[in-house]
Amino acid sequence: SSAELSGRVAVVTGASSGIGEQIARTFAARGASVALLARRVGRLEAIVKDITASGGTAASYPVDLTDAAATTAVAGEIARELGDAGIVVSNAGIMLPTPLGDLNPPDWSRQVELNIGAVNNTLIAFTAQLVRSAAATGVADLVNTASFAGRSVFPTFSVYAASKAYVIHLGNNLRAELGPKNVRVTTIQPGIVGTELQSHIADENVRTRLAATRDTIEWLIPQDIADVVAYAVGLPARVNLPEITVLPTRQT
Ligand code: NDP
Repeated sequence: SSAELSGRVAVVTGASSGIGEQIARTFAARGASVALLARRVGRLEAIVKDITASGGTAASYPVDLTDAAATTAVAGEIARELGDAGIVVSNAGIMLPTPLGDLNPPDWSRQVELNIGAVNNTLIAFTAQLVRSAAATGVADLVNTASFAGRSVFPTFSVYAASKAYVIHLGNNLRAELGPKNVRVTTIQPGIVGTELQSHIADENVRTRLAATRDTIEWLIPQDIADVVAYAVGLPARVNLPEITVLPTRQT
């Protein structure tokens, strides 16, 4: 039904654009109360306004997720204002190809600090809420956005790919602790999705090569991923999809 997520409090990180924005909109359309986390306040507020105008429930929580204390503080605000999170989608991430011949230490660090660090900070901030929510309602969900890159080899994407391999392995290990507490852990591993992600690539050769794949591959759109995530968290409590790979049909 259209209200299959009603009564659930959902936290989505990286909700100001791309995949996270669409997950937030889709959860709200299915009845969840959604907390949107990212840094760009204006973007978050515009999306919240839109969701509210279409009858949904949402609120924005601007935060830099690389800041552990700030992330924990926001988690406390969410619990007080919306209730314990029963769905947490840890989705914020950045992809900055780092060719070794042109090594860019700041880009290397940014990917580690966000793709690994923010996932850790989010986990630390929200695990207690997920466990309480699962005890109260029978199920809760932690969804982490990794990437197909986390299980493949893409020259120049080494640090990005390794950061996403961390997310996949982390999820499979967390599942062993959280599953018995009725907290499902799902790692979503998308192939290429058209978002702002590609526009942050500084290396022009890499950006051009990536863009050229549109000539042969119809890229996914954020709604494709949002639909799959909404499906996973809407399943009966006994069913968990630990890893979901979603690829454009023509991407190999
Ligand atoms: P976008 O660039 O559109 O989204 C990234 C999101 O992360 C934005 O909302 C951004 O918001 C947020 N973000 C970045 N830095 C921070 C920070 N320090 N604190 C809080 N939020 C932050 O890209 P996508 O939607 O494509 O990416 C979403 C996830 O999907 C990422 O983890 C990405 O690696 C993954 N992915 C994407 C694929 C693709 O082809 N697009 C393929 C596979 C995986 P703000 O700037 O407002 O903070």
